[in-house]
Amino acid sequence: MTGAADASGELESLKRRGLLRTLRPRPAAGGKFTDPAGRTVLNFSSNDYLDLAGDARLKAAAVEAIGRWGCGATASRLMAGHLEIHERLERRLAAWTGREAALLFGSGFLTNLGVLTALAGRADAIFADRTVHASLIDAARLSGARLHRFRHNDTEHLSWLLERHASRRRAIVCESIYSMDGDAAPLAELSQIAGRHGAMLVVDEAHAVGVFGPRGSGLCRTDDAIRPDVVIGTLSKALGGYGGFAACSAAIRELLINRARSFIYSTGLPPACAGSALAALDVLDASPDLGDRLLERSAALRQMLADAGLDVGPSCSQIVPVIGGGSERVLSLSRRLAERGLLAVAVRPPTVPAGTARLRLSVTLAHQRADLERAANEVVAESGR
Ligand SMILES: *Cc1c(COP(=O)(O)O)cnc(C)c1O
Repeated sequence: MTGAADASGELESLKRRGLLRTLRPRPAAGGKFTDPAGRTVLNFSSNDYLDLAGDARLKAAAVEAIGRWGCGATASRLMAGHLEIHERLERRLAAWTGREAALLFGSGFLTNLGVLTALAGRADAIFADRTVHASLIDAARLSGARLHRFRHNDTEHLSWLLERHASRRRAIVCESIYSMDGDAAPLAELSQIAGRHGAMLVVDEAHAVGVFGPRGSGLCRTDDAIRPDVVIGTLSKALGGYGGFAACSAAIRELLINRARSFIYSTGLPPACAGSALAALDVLDASPDLGDRLLERSAALRQMLADAGLDVGPSCSQIVPVIGGGSERVLSLSRRLAERGLLAVAVRPPTVPAGTARLRLSVTLAHQRADLERAANEVVAESGR
């Protein structure tokens, strides 16, 4: 593989197979915006779940942080890039998630790379749900640990694998809310299994922080029987900004500072990102019901779609899939909806299991009840074609 000729050959092949991805600039981010033609666009592909990315309070906090500390942290945290605002945010995230400590990373992706490579190595084994995010799979591979994947949310399969594969250290890796089905992991049961087998439990709460748990503090905080060793979160979705964090014991935090290469060899989080995240946490303190409001609206959308006979799968969250119809049909449905001002991605195999191509709708607080009715009507009408 050398040179431009090979790149274009590979691109041709992707195009032939209908797998070529392209970038298209949007006039705005967020769940709802006006396009250049003056039309209201409902965006169900945004992760701005709480409609905070454009919130005046977050913007002001980001600007204030820039005013005080500048645009960049200028160095990695272990060199000269460790700022007081990082420490303040980490203490806040630790208290919020109910852990001893927290550590910031450049993004959720970098958090996963750092955490799994620091906690597992060649003599170890990682047991990951088959549908976890690409960053967790890449992290597990990079760690050099043996990777076993258990069937989605299948605790019997996980136990079976754990019984058969002994190794030095073992870690169970899952998400709390899954991004393709919008369903929840059986976290209490996973904790019990981890305890029984002496394995660590690492839970990625990327889609749950801000939405589930008291003041959006995550699904892990909803039940004392849930005992994760590491909770991973992102500042890039419900919290409206950018960055990632791991919440854990003080000892694991110290280990991460010493072993997580995506922490050690990367510049500290920009002050603006820390500032906006702190403001997002203030918003959640002042309005602790934001997550519940989002979940109520999501349930209403699911109900409208299900009442019309569509399959919304096992979703219990703001992520609402409309499953079925085959890849080409779902792709064409997504295109027709886009023409009508409704953005929802078509997710096709191999991203999801064969035969379960789907339209994926992310509800946000920018979507009012009437918007959701419009969306449901359009999806139902266009699916019937
Ligand atoms: C989005 C996501 C990430 C990556 O987070 P970023 O902050 O966008 O890098 C990691 N894990 C899961 C489960 C995600 O959904």
